[in-house]
Amino acid sequence: RTVYVNGEYLPETEAKVSIFDRGFLMADGVYEVTSVLGGKLIDFGGHAARLERSLTELDMGCPVTMDELLAIHRELVKLNDIDEGMIYLQITRGAPGDRDFVFPDPETTKPTIVLFTQNKPGMANTPAAKVGLKVISIEDIRWGRRDIKTVQLLYPSMGKMMAKKAGADDAWLVEDGSVTEGTSNNAYIVKGGKIITRNLTKDILHGITRAAVLRFAREAQMEVEERPFTIEEAQAADEAFVTSASAFVMPVVEIDGAKIGTGTPGPVAVRLREIYLEESLKTAI
Ligand code: PLP
Repeated sequence: RTVYVNGEYLPETEAKVSIFDRGFLMADGVYEVTSVLGGKLIDFGGHAARLERSLTELDMGCPVTMDELLAIHRELVKLNDIDEGMIYLQITRGAPGDRDFVFPDPETTKPTIVLFTQNKPGMANTPAAKVGLKVISIEDIRWGRRDIKTVQLLYPSMGKMMAKKAGADDAWLVEDGSVTEGTSNNAYIVKGGKIITRNLTKDILHGITRAAVLRFAREAQMEVEERPFTIEEAQAADEAFVTSASAFVMPVVEIDGAKIGTGTPGPVAVRLREIYLEESLKTAI
């Protein structure tokens, strides 16, 4: 694989970052994952805009312009011959010459930027979408700024491991009795044809796929309600699903051992997946 690090395209084995990098020592960094379909970037504009917001919220500079960022994404797709897959982008506050809690002077310590591709042939047609996911619920003990896409992913990672140990595919996070989101996706239920998903606050990541899916749903005259819901309400719903850049729209068929609806992917989730894959390709660049 050819990767990008601080202005250079290099074989992955030659790419290097300092041991003092604050991303490594303190999870002081942000990231984005953009999917590639047919060799094109899905929703690049949305991911670029959220990246700028994450950086601003953390008072961190951006080492490249958004035009340069697009060019780097495209170059990596070309160099690695990606038809279907993902591009991971990470920007950290950089590597001062020592470990210190205080932010380094931005004049002398430049942010570190790294991008790499993940080749996933057949991703859009994954058999998992026909089976659906089993999820468990776990307590949401993450920090209070989940709207910033930081690389601080230890708890989501532990959540996935708890799910795996329980024989499930993923975990939904619950705070004060209601579902915030999945470990790496936004969570939805469908009841009486209405799509219900948590409203946007600092409690959840403002998913780029979420925004697109809700827009497509409204355009298709589907009813959408943005509000918190409980695990009990989800278990009694007709359908459930999650969205993310890498999973698109993925049906959920079981929550904490209880089957949702018929225990198979529901018609709304299946249709939204089709609409999303079709519509997002139209604006792919
Ligand atoms: N929520 C969390 C916690 C995530 O990590 C992600 C994606 O990684 C999402 C939601 C979905 O966001 P997006 O649709 O922008 O990929």
